[in-house]
Amino acid sequence: MDSRLKIKAYVTSYSEEVTGSCNHVKVVWPDGRELSFVIDCGLFQEKEHLERNAEKFVFTPSNIAFAIATHVHTDHVGRFPYLVKKGFMGRIYTTEETKQLLPCILSETSDRLQEEYDVALKKYKAEKKAVRKAKLDSKGRGKRDKQRREYTKDKPKTETHMPVLIFERKDIDVCLDRVNTVAPFETFSPAEGLEITFYPNAHIGGAVLVHVRAFDESEELNFLFTGDLGMTNPVTGGVTIIPDEVCKKIDFVVSEATYGASDGPRDDEAERQRHIKILENVRKKRGTVMYMSNSLERPQKVCADLVSMQKENVFEGIKDFKIYFDSTFGIKCHSKYVKLYGTDYVPENFRIIDKTDRELVAAEQGPKMIICTSPRLYQGSFVTYGAKMLANKNVTLIFVAYIPENVRNIVNLPRGTEIEYMGEKVKLMCKMYNFGYYSSHIPPEDLDKFLARFENAKALLFNHGTVEAKSNYVRRYKTDVNSTHNLLFGRTVMLTSDGIKKYY
Ligand SMILES: [Zn+2]
Repeated sequence: MDSRLKIKAYVTSYSEEVTGSCNHVKVVWPDGRELSFVIDCGLFQEKEHLERNAEKFVFTPSNIAFAIATHVHTDHVGRFPYLVKKGFMGRIYTTEETKQLLPCILSETSDRLQEEYDVALKKYKAEKKAVRKAKLDSKGRGKRDKQRREYTKDKPKTETHMPVLIFERKDIDVCLDRVNTVAPFETFSPAEGLEITFYPNAHIGGAVLVHVRAFDESEELNFLFTGDLGMTNPVTGGVTIIPDEVCKKIDFVVSEATYGASDGPRDDEAERQRHIKILENVRKKRGTVMYMSNSLERPQKVCADLVSMQKENVFEGIKDFKIYFDSTFGIKCHSKYVKLYGTDYVPENFRIIDKTDRELVAAEQGPKMIICTSPRLYQGSFVTYGAKMLANKNVTLIFVAYIPENVRNIVNLPRGTEIEYMGEKVKLMCKMYNFGYYSSHIPPEDLDKFLARFENAKALLFNHGTVEAKSNYVRRYKTDVNSTHNLLFGRTVMLTSDGIKKYY
């Protein structure tokens, strides 16, 4: 068929990092009709992210017909209120579970952005003041206008930009009003010549795979967007399901490339055994374990794991641990989770605490566990315990979320190193570990199997994950998996049912 008579789709992924997921899709039908939509609109959470998040969208928000949210992690939904503020007028399609969880995650995102904005604004103002002072010092007060004009030509400039707060709490409701819910396996048509079906994805509660079918009377083009991918979920009991007949129809898969261990198998059971050994030691010493987590589902995963440890009675005394859950947003997510999925994941000796209990809990003899939602050390409930806990050799910090570079550097420091923590000098005496087995992402060998099911796909496009993780995965997939799939990780790809036409 003449390629001018074919349906074309331009798929652009804006994030080349782990966070800030956003896919822009433009479909052009042979009769000239065009339609653009986005799948996810997430927050950047890597370095200098205040500035990155305030960047303009590369597309015009008012030209976007509709949007889809694959799941409720902030790196997939955190910029939706900003998209709406910038002129997006369409609906946001997602599942009922995601809709229920969205208010928790967006208000947390908004509070974190506000905190960072306040710090950045203070820094900006201080720098501006310093520059103004330098200007007065060099020229003196009351100089004539001419001299002033001359001076402005090469006046010292502030290096920091005026920070921008991309949205506030009040913008969240406007965004939530745009949400339409669709159940998995139900096909909906947001525009003529376009059908979309969600399939359950076990990554986190409410997550879906997104099947997009663009068609006219003579042909069709089928995509699958995986979003982040997980295969089973111990908290929600969910499993990833996509029927074989759908897999066979898919022309292009836009997939995540897995976070961590992208170049080899992950030994989850060995990690869990190591974790259990650590807990056994802490119990003997009547110490404290602090779980450092994000607020959504990771704490619930820790709880589900503790339930199984209690049931298996992994060592004598595992049930001696008191388990405290301390986090404003974590608790909000927790109560939604209990409503949606029941209490099977809640361990014995579990108690929710807040700031009024912290001093007592911190001083209490162990063995105890405190689950905090502070994956970055500098935010959330850990901050109030922070300095004391870092300096205590009877404290063990267990990181169960993706940890950014600055925290990773601290985790790897030798014990006894002096660091600055929230303006205080602290000698690092606690023990620190990071367990990848709590990851809600698919291990690489399972991703191989998942992708192999799309036997007729002309290409697999990896759009999410660090460039390193993507290239490691692609390298390994090419050598280990006997597959004829075309593997890509570019920014924009022009696709037709014949295959890739352009690649930028
Ligand atoms: Zn995710």
